[in-house]
Amino acid sequence: MTKFVYDFAEGDRNQRDLLGGKGANLAEMTNLGLPVPPGFIITTDACRAYLAGGREPEGMAAEVSEHLAALETTMGKRLGEADDPLLVSVRSGAKFSMPGMMETVLNVGLNDASVHGLAAQAGDDRFAWDSYRRLVQMFGATVLDIDAEHFHDALEAAKSAKGTKNDLDLDAGDLAALVETFKGLVTEHAGRDFPQDPREQLDLAVRAVFDSWNSERANIYRRQERIPADLGTAVSVVSMVFGNLGMDSGTGVAFTRDPASGAQGVYGDYLQNAQGEDVVAGIRNTLALTELERIDKTSYDELMRIMGVLEAHYRDLCDIEFTIERGKLWMLQTRVGKRTAAAAFTVATQLVDEGLIDLDEALQRVTGHQLAQLMFPRFDPDADKELLTTGMNASPGAAGGKAVFDSETAVAWAKRGEKVVLVRRETNPDDLAGMIAAEGILTSRGGRTSHAAVVARGMGKTAVCGAEELEVDVRNKVFTVGGEGPAAGREVREGEVIAVDGTSGEVYLGEIPVVPSPVMSYFEHGTIDDGDELVVAVDRIMRHADGIRRLRVRANADTGEDAALARRFGAEGIGLCRTEHMFLGERRSLVEDLVLAETRDEREKALAALLPMQIEDFTALYRAMAGQPVTIRLLDPPLHEFLPDLTELSVQVAVARERGELTDEQEALLENVRRLHEQNPMLGLRGVRLGIQVPGLFAMQIRAITRAAAALVDEGVTVLPEIMVPLVGTVQELQAVAAEIAEVVAEPESLVDGAPVEHQVGTMIELPRAALVAAEIAEVAQFFSFGTNDLTQTTWGFSRDDVESSFFSAYLDHGIFGVSPFESLDTVGVGELVEIASWRGREVRNDLKLGICGEHGGDPDSVHFFHRAGLDYVSCSPFRVPVARLEAGRAQA
Ligand code: ADP
Ligand code: MG
Ligand code: MG
Repeated sequence: MTKFVYDFAEGDRNQRDLLGGKGANLAEMTNLGLPVPPGFIITTDACRAYLAGGREPEGMAAEVSEHLAALETTMGKRLGEADDPLLVSVRSGAKFSMPGMMETVLNVGLNDASVHGLAAQAGDDRFAWDSYRRLVQMFGATVLDIDAEHFHDALEAAKSAKGTKNDLDLDAGDLAALVETFKGLVTEHAGRDFPQDPREQLDLAVRAVFDSWNSERANIYRRQERIPADLGTAVSVVSMVFGNLGMDSGTGVAFTRDPASGAQGVYGDYLQNAQGEDVVAGIRNTLALTELERIDKTSYDELMRIMGVLEAHYRDLCDIEFTIERGKLWMLQTRVGKRTAAAAFTVATQLVDEGLIDLDEALQRVTGHQLAQLMFPRFDPDADKELLTTGMNASPGAAGGKAVFDSETAVAWAKRGEKVVLVRRETNPDDLAGMIAAEGILTSRGGRTSHAAVVARGMGKTAVCGAEELEVDVRNKVFTVGGEGPAAGREVREGEVIAVDGTSGEVYLGEIPVVPSPVMSYFEHGTIDDGDELVVAVDRIMRHADGIRRLRVRANADTGEDAALARRFGAEGIGLCRTEHMFLGERRSLVEDLVLAETRDEREKALAALLPMQIEDFTALYRAMAGQPVTIRLLDPPLHEFLPDLTELSVQVAVARERGELTDEQEALLENVRRLHEQNPMLGLRGVRLGIQVPGLFAMQIRAITRAAAALVDEGVTVLPEIMVPLVGTVQELQAVAAEIAEVVAEPESLVDGAPVEHQVGTMIELPRAALVAAEIAEVAQFFSFGTNDLTQTTWGFSRDDVESSFFSAYLDHGIFGVSPFESLDTVGVGELVEIASWRGREVRNDLKLGICGEHGGDPDSVHFFHRAGLDYVSCSPFRVPVARLEAGRAQA
């Protein structure tokens, strides 16, 4: 029988799948002997069973009872008992951390009777009533689904009746009255009374945590972070410890290093006389963690010691949640901490220097996604700027846009193509959609560990938090700069452009030009300033990746300029030159002439005009990539791209006819275009089909490829052209083109010292049939390059241009995809075809070169797959080359 409940002592950190990250790490800390309040974990298995069947799985309730009884014995108290109640928290926690996305309920077990017992035991009436009002509030909002505003408003009303803005000024009597008000709100809005039975509270809270897995905000977050929708959450039930027992109690969050830079030191926030969420919600302003040393040196020292233990144990930056109850420190959570992209690199190399990890492991600690973030531009330091204020540098980057004050506006404006910066007092999980839509985030409250900061860092979104001088008025959509600075009194309304610098914490008015980041300059020019810890770290990790990776990295480039750029980024050749990009602009009409030509003469004329242009194109590419292979794909446009638009032409002809001005040519043209018009160009006359249908077209391109090469070889330049035939479905197609190639390379202009210039002939594998008959194709092809964009389209039967904007989001919502198969390779289906073609091809030709040139070449997950599949190289856009190099190294490490 499946076991649904685990004691903390029964688990460990490797069980995140089953126990969730939070549960697994609570178990790990328990077994490390750290002070964790006892508790147990209900597994993700139970959650998945619940979500699938609509009710708790058989046996779960009994197991919960068993573990609860054991917990009661350990604690010497019974859940919710009137004279001395055990209270517990019921906490969500999935395999991957989803900060604030799901529910947690504290103080479960309090009711009208046990609140008195708690008060008597603690000798503190105020504390007991404060805990009870928190329970009714949290339970009402999260378990019974009552709009949190109702409770919030009642709390505010109680405070203003008392003439205060501070929760702490409410006394026991005020809080007892508030509990009555809250219970009334529950009855009114939930249609039932607040449950007095402690076990019922527990069971309903567990169920609410399960349900929160499917909340809308959790879904949005998972999609953004590419977390699979079917994992489910675990539930940790933890005996309560109290940070709200007076000024010698409190609660806090901490990092073992600075999550923004990786610097060692004391980083965190602490709040006296407070419980759980108070710290992150930005309700009261927190103290810097260093202050704790002054307030409670014993607890502070103990915390420092434990942070040392955790860093040494996890060998990584950890973040933690802790509570101090009357001078006693309790650990409530730890995990390997989210960090900025820059900190990921610097921390990884610091840990190497400290001897905690080796370079292979350092490589595992960083991602291509983080590297890509570091390549984003930053504000020009020399630009004129009007500083509004400075806040906390919560998540680095440079972001500018129109100020908006709510999530809906952020989403709506971003949808119509505007850049926006979301300005809030503080954010909460309901702001998630707006945070995703915005370029950057600015808050006036909350620290480095506030919701806004944590979520922004996780997403790699620029954020400045806790800009306390700002008075944010969300209702009127305006913020005012306070303080004494030069901008004091300045108002900024919705729609005015502001710029936030998440690296410095500065907030500016207006648009500010950006310049390349130091990491970008490093890749472009190889410059390393020894004082720049980040660039030094990036360089060290990149060198290691390059040193160990097996997978080569090429670039997709169509011009000499792009090729040169790609080369500076470390590209080891061109994996795809799309020649159709060379036929845009004025050359387009030459191709149109060619396609529509009715006589040999007309055709030859168009081809003769194109040849010298193509020779020039390829010469530039070869020069930029001298010594490296250059794969040139023969023309593969959907035909309609080179034909006049049928509808437009029909209208023109109709108008001309009406006016009696219609010419014979016009009529013939329309007929021709109509004849060639396709319902579904993606599956029509394109690729090799076009080459066979239009005589001379491919020969012209082959001529240009080999003549340009021969001329450069004569100059002493090393040139390695690879001629790639697109959209082949059967070996006969490839044979036809190969025969053409053989003829052309024998022409005098393509010879070097009397022999054909060195070259290879290969094909794209982008049709399922091609993958299946790869053995036959490999008889002719010297290389395969997987065109995974088309291969995905043709395998799934999706037309990318049509489906991405229509039903894909429904598919993502339904969890049919975790991520679009155009973004990250569908390794199960399309990937299987890649593997089949590789095996079958290599069986026939063991030195068959294998590469991939679809968009997936720059996608981290896909790169790992191609490594495992045994490909020789990936090819991606020039800017993704460093990312692919890094990921290829990670795949090997
Ligand atoms: P989240 O995942 O949103 O951080 P948590 O489950 O960690 O939610 O809980 C929310 C807050 O409540 C945290 O600050 C946590 O430290 C606090 N908390 C949770 N369980 C307990 C407990 N047993 N005693 C005291 N505080 C708790
Ligand atoms: Mg937490
Ligand atoms: Mg293609």
